[in-house]
Amino acid sequence: MTDLWQPIAKHLLFPLHAKWEGNSVPSHLERFEASQWLSADALETLRLDRLTMLLKHAYANCPFYTARFKACDFNPEDFRGFEDLLAIPPLTKQDILDHAPQMKARNLPDDQIVPDKTGGSTGQPLHFFMDRDRVYSRNAAALRHDRWTGWDIGYKAAYLWGHRQDQAHTASRLSDLRVRLLDRMCVLDTSSITRDKLESYRHELLAFKPHVYIAYANSVYLYARYLQESGKQVYHRPKAIITSAEMLDPERRSVIESVFGCDVFDRYGSRETGVIASECREHQGLHICAETQHLEFIRHGRAVAPGEQGKIVLTDLMNVGMPFIRYEIGDVGVPTAGSCECGRGLPLMEVAAGRVTDFLLTPDGRIVSGASLTIYLIANAPGVSQAQLIQEEHGRILLKIVKGPDFSDATTRFFAKQIPEFFGTDMKYDLEFVDRIPVTASGKHRFSICRLDPAEMF
Ligand SMILES: [Zn+2]
Repeated sequence: MTDLWQPIAKHLLFPLHAKWEGNSVPSHLERFEASQWLSADALETLRLDRLTMLLKHAYANCPFYTARFKACDFNPEDFRGFEDLLAIPPLTKQDILDHAPQMKARNLPDDQIVPDKTGGSTGQPLHFFMDRDRVYSRNAAALRHDRWTGWDIGYKAAYLWGHRQDQAHTASRLSDLRVRLLDRMCVLDTSSITRDKLESYRHELLAFKPHVYIAYANSVYLYARYLQESGKQVYHRPKAIITSAEMLDPERRSVIESVFGCDVFDRYGSRETGVIASECREHQGLHICAETQHLEFIRHGRAVAPGEQGKIVLTDLMNVGMPFIRYEIGDVGVPTAGSCECGRGLPLMEVAAGRVTDFLLTPDGRIVSGASLTIYLIANAPGVSQAQLIQEEHGRILLKIVKGPDFSDATTRFFAKQIPEFFGTDMKYDLEFVDRIPVTASGKHRFSICRLDPAEMF
């Protein structure tokens, strides 16, 4: 059925609301829609120009950066190319916890600077600031990437979201009205998932009929599995699914795609900077939102080659209110060479690797994505329903297992064969059988945890 309200929301309410609120979302969106088709070279020039301006601005106006640049003898006037950034030490979450007020730009009026916070994977919230215009450009960038899926402004969206903080709705009637008429979204809380809740999602989605689901990867996977296993035939099928916040492996992707009969678009984003990268319809990797962010992929202090894993160091090119310069966001990614068939000049990357703390160190110094490995083990070991890999010390890992009904000696034999193949024969391992593996404070599944010093590994 055609959605009669959608064109009204898009062409009338969206611009009117922007005008009434004085927000620049529509104009940012228009620019992002155009710039995505620039050549890779033109985008690189744009990025370099923005970066140069940001470095000069931060040095002149943010006391934290003035001190930091002086301490490492970095003068923005001498900045020539991206590789010069390596001279600046990465910005850690601890830096932000300790110095956020000194990172704010003094040349902006207070009413132009907006506080925000992340839940943080450890449960400790990270408070930060952004200038008001960055809030709008962050929203506009998300809209551009949402539109790659076939969704458009005014179509309904359902969030299967595990983090309560992101779901917070303001109580004002105006914002209620906005949610109903313009944003047209519903939020299904997936911070804890039971069969009853999965059944309630089925009812809500059937009633709401969203165009797209925007979901924690594991939440929508569990919902898809529930539909498969319960044999329910009547359920809503969206036109597209955007997965985010958790790792999406090919097996889970194919389950989700087959249950809902639509494309899955994986996305990588953060509260601090918005959409970082996401898939287009060609699914040839994730396009970096390169007009707003400059990404480096670093191992042992140097940029890795295309195809190699590196920790992601991110510079937000548009947040002048509180610059994030070389921010260690805690994730690992892989820069990809080449271009996408869609014709967009936005560079490509992969994030399949997971967070820095998901990586395990082999006795011979290789880094292995614990998350990929755990998912592989769950999929292929007989009789395992959940698993988690933990490394507390060099040369040893702990594998926590929730037994499935088919558990037997064959399961332990499987581990005895597979673990040396991934980690080398010198890696010792222990098995521990548990009843369940809890999710983190932010509702995410941790497939692996490494407690070695990340500086040793990256
Ligand atoms: Zn593309």
